[in-house]
Amino acid sequence: MRQSNLLATTLREAPAEAETVNHQLLLRAGYIRQLAAGIYTYLPLGRRVLRKIEAIVREEMDAAGAQEMLMPSMQPAELWKASERYEVYGKELMKLNDRHDREFVLGPTHEEVITSLMRGEVSSYRKLPVTVYQIGTKFRDERRPRSGLMRGREFLMKDAYSFDTGWEGLDDTYSRMYKAYQRIFERCGLVYRAVQADAGAIGGEGETHEFMAISGIGEDTIAVCSACDYAANLEQAEVHTGAEAVQRNVSNLPAAEKFHTPGIRTVEQLEQELRIAPEQVIKTLIYQGGGQVFAVLVRGDHEVNEVKVRNYIGASEIALADSGTVRAAASVESGFVGPVGLSLTLLADRAVAAMTSGITGAGERDFHLRDVVPGRDFTLEHVADFRTAEEGGTCPVCGEGVLHFEQGIEIGHIFKLGTKYSEKLGATVLDAAGQSNPVIMGCYGIGISRLMAAVAEQNSDGQGLIWPAALAPYRVHILQMSVQDEVQTAAAEALYEQLSKLGVETLLDDRDERAGVKFKDSALMGIPVAIVVGKAAAGGKVEYLDRRSDSKEVIDITEAVSRVTSGQNG
Ligand code: ATP
Ligand code: MG
Repeated sequence: MRQSNLLATTLREAPAEAETVNHQLLLRAGYIRQLAAGIYTYLPLGRRVLRKIEAIVREEMDAAGAQEMLMPSMQPAELWKASERYEVYGKELMKLNDRHDREFVLGPTHEEVITSLMRGEVSSYRKLPVTVYQIGTKFRDERRPRSGLMRGREFLMKDAYSFDTGWEGLDDTYSRMYKAYQRIFERCGLVYRAVQADAGAIGGEGETHEFMAISGIGEDTIAVCSACDYAANLEQAEVHTGAEAVQRNVSNLPAAEKFHTPGIRTVEQLEQELRIAPEQVIKTLIYQGGGQVFAVLVRGDHEVNEVKVRNYIGASEIALADSGTVRAAASVESGFVGPVGLSLTLLADRAVAAMTSGITGAGERDFHLRDVVPGRDFTLEHVADFRTAEEGGTCPVCGEGVLHFEQGIEIGHIFKLGTKYSEKLGATVLDAAGQSNPVIMGCYGIGISRLMAAVAEQNSDGQGLIWPAALAPYRVHILQMSVQDEVQTAAAEALYEQLSKLGVETLLDDRDERAGVKFKDSALMGIPVAIVVGKAAAGGKVEYLDRRSDSKEVIDITEAVSRVTSGQNG
């Protein structure tokens, strides 16, 4: 490709709204342009990177036995109502009506479409297992589109769906997909980690893993064990039980006693004004969700993990109750709410259940209670792990290592769905005995466009992008220093032709620009190798620049060609 023809305008400055490195550089280097919030055009350079990612994904999916297909974005709303996700997906679902006023959605994912398709296509166990995949556009009306391609409202995803007759079959398929994902992310040059995850709105009964690109801008926190291979999304990282398996003797404890705490509403105030250690406090938080109002109790130094609570309650969403709801349910404002005498379902974190006694709100304005004994002064019917794991805490699996936290960008997610969709949408097969059973499903997503952003985020320096060779839009960038110089033109053209014939994707900077501009743009674009054709071309020499190591060397043109074709760089 001749750069004089390439639709790729580089920008000196990134627009102010671009805060992350990948967003700034992909805009500045001419890879993407924004059309509306969370909606982007991929310019030719960006499209080439996407195609590289897609090719890797296709190769690995095909090798894992998955078959490519393509499903429609426009999906009848009835399908989403049948799976009961029309409401659950909420405002993220893009809705539209056709001319007959029939309701449609723009697919944020394709479980409904594929499951209803399979209902018609496959009726016997003999046709299973089957795994299909597609690469296509997804629509999600995200509350906060962010960081360019990272969280788009229209984005590219690879989604795969597997159908097995039994759970053992699904286990096999799942582990094949897991391995394919490892190869994909390795080939894309990502620093990543597979972590145990929460099933969220897609939901399911089984195991689920997220693949996280490690990055400070990641929205997810990952808890990683220093000793074993345990790694989990903080949303679901379990808390080690050891410390809380204490035997309590509550028989001779004093009765709970009210004390005056005017204006003291928070654990911090109890600590600062009354010198009460947070671990002696029992926090009572009123939540609503799943059609009920309930209380969650955690120790003053702990945080409620809403994902764990949500899963325990079986609600798709929960939220802290508003002040009106709190007052109606507890007859007092939050800050003085306590579990004693509270007629709500109480969910107690294990650490609360292990306390001998604690300090709580008294359920009366400006008063707290001390010597409150869990199990004596309030019921302990619902005790479980309801809190967020802490950095430095003991590993819940090996019990020896210590958890440390990393930030991650979720680039892939695999789920064992089981029969969640096949039951609701009636996708059954007859087994060998002629019995009808719902098929056992799995689903497997990769954010193709997000992956491009994650690679850009992990691979850059002060000058610009640094693509891994496997994803670079071009392998070689020829920079002709002076387009007026005939010797240089001849040498650059010959080199360009030779590399192109050898199948090396090459971009020739043949623009009538100053050398400085060419160097800057080349570094910004991040093509792995630049070959500078300048004055030395008269003597058959060029400058060979390796973008990643930022090294320069003057070598013979022939040597440059053989280096490129032997793939020594990038
Ligand atoms: P997130 O927690 O980031 O919202 P999700 O759990 O909603 O992700 P999935 O439904 O599992 O995501 O989608 C599969 C993959 O699609 C994700 O792993 C991610 O890589 C990608 N993805 C999801 N939402 C977006 C988005 N808004 N923009 C770009 N990629 C996305
Ligand atoms: Mg999401």
